[in-house]
Parts: sequence; C-alpha cells; structure tokens
Amino acid sequence: MSLHELHISTSSKEELIDITSQISELLKKEKLKDGICIIHVPHTTAAVTINENADPDVQHDLLLGLDKAFPDRNEFRHSEGNSSAHLKSSCIGCSQTVLISDGKLLLGTWQGIYFCEFDGPRQRKCYVKILEK
Ligand code: ZN
Repeated sequence: MSLHELHISTSSKEELIDITSQISELLKKEKLKDGICIIHVPHTTAAVTINENADPDVQHDLLLGLDKAFPDRNEFRHSEGNSSAHLKSSCIGCSQTVLISDGKLLLGTWQGIYFCEFDGPRQRKCYVKILEK
C-alpha cells in the first residue's frame, strides 16, 4: 500500500483544519476493504487529533484550553520563542491511527480528524499510510 502526502497551507498562528474528507478520498483511491490508516505529522509545532466535527466552537475551545495549559513563559529558554507551540505539539501528538472497515474510516458520528497548527502560518505536510487487513 502506498504512502500519501497531504500539503496543508495554514493561515493563522493557531488553527485546527479538518482533513477527514481528504483522507477519505485517499481511501476511495486505494479501494481496500479493511485495514488501518496511520496519519503522521512530521513537524514539532503541529499535531494531529481526532475530535468533534459538529460544533466549530469545540475547535475554538480546544485552542483556548491549550493556551491556558501552555501559556508563553519568560522562563522558556528556546531562542525561537515558540516553546508553547512545541509543548502543545507534544501534548496532542504527531500521529493517529484509525481503523478502516468496509472501505470507510471507522470514526464516531461526531468525530473528525484535525491537523493542528500551533505556530503558523506555514506550509505543512501530513503523511498518510494505508495498510490492508
Ligand atoms: Zn522552536
């Protein structure tokens, strides 16, 4: 099974971008029935998460909550000045695994897959590996 690469242009310092439909499109092309899908973000100030896709306020609140948990601090040493973005990336994580059943991502009714930007705007990448059975 092949490795896919998504290219994502982020437009804000922090945002969540729903990439569920892009991944579903890749699944259709692969034409497999059952397997797993691994989504990996090769960045240290971005992440990938699965969360609610019905109410966009949830995305707002996730970012707000992460800001409260990981505010910028004067004590940070990292000279690039984006340590809170590194903390958020580590906390959320850079990969997700989703089961594939009957050719579809096995997500809950209210779940979507989100690319998380914590230090944008930037040109970002996301790898998607689809494995059969
Ligand atoms: Zn940095």
